[in-house]
Amino acid sequence: MIEFHDVEKYYGKFHALYHINMTVEKGEVVTIIGPSGSGKSTLLRTINGLERISSGQLIVNNFDLADKKTNMDRIRKNVGMVFQHFNLYANKTVLQNITLGPELVLKEPKDQAEEEAHNLLDLVGLNDKAKSMPSQLSGGQQQRIAIARSLAMKPRAILFDEPTSALDPEMIGDVLNVMKKIAQQGMTMIVVTHEMGFAEEVGDRVVFMDQGHILEDSKDVKAFFNK
Ligand code: ADP
Ligand code: ADP
Repeated sequence: MIEFHDVEKYYGKFHALYHINMTVEKGEVVTIIGPSGSGKSTLLRTINGLERISSGQLIVNNFDLADKKTNMDRIRKNVGMVFQHFNLYANKTVLQNITLGPELVLKEPKDQAEEEAHNLLDLVGLNDKAKSMPSQLSGGQQQRIAIARSLAMKPRAILFDEPTSALDPEMIGDVLNVMKKIAQQGMTMIVVTHEMGFAEEVGDRVVFMDQGHILEDSKDVKAFFNK
């Protein structure tokens, strides 16, 4: 689903990613951990083209991101992203936040988009907020809506960039539970997080980064956290 072959990333002269080799299979839940500034977010952002790689090869959904024939809008439709700051449309209702992409990009009829949105609101436990404005919701609720909005585009994978780092502690559990549900449904997920409990419990694999390097990439998640 996602393959890095010897990927390097520079910001000007600053070397942000070194020799990244990593393959993520369909249905895998990969957590990426490591200190601040180690390149986790950069690595995630290369996958949907928010950052361009400097050298090496990056294949997403069978398309080479360096190939001019690759349609980046298509990549971003197929690979959703959830950010630390949820970036909901402030002047649209919760329901409209979710239906907008399916109607405009997937050309779904309004009825269908709304029906699917209600199913997603059930999944994230917020159907009673369909008519609310984002500002009326807590941060944790807004993040659950952002996750529903991402799922509404029917992506093949979702990237999460520190999805709970901006939340009050009491909000974090509900968001992690929604992510766990999605993982159990078989979604391919790459999650940059400081939540070690989530990484250990839900992750199929843990990648540890430091100073732009992948220092460890382990499928034995229990052993990784218990050594
Ligand atoms: P992490 O997600 O692990 O905190 P980042 O990927 O955000 O790390 O950043 C890795 C390094 O790259 C940091 O030293 C950061 O300052 C630098 N960096 C990130 N984005 C940019 C940018 N747009 N321009 C220059 N340097 C950047
Ligand atoms: P989607 O899920 O985006 O509708 P599919 O995987 O069903 O795409 O593929 C539909 C067609 O679009 C196929 O011919 C496929 O090769 C092509 N395609 C899919 N993604 C891209 C992309 N990122 N760039 C160029 N063509 C693509």
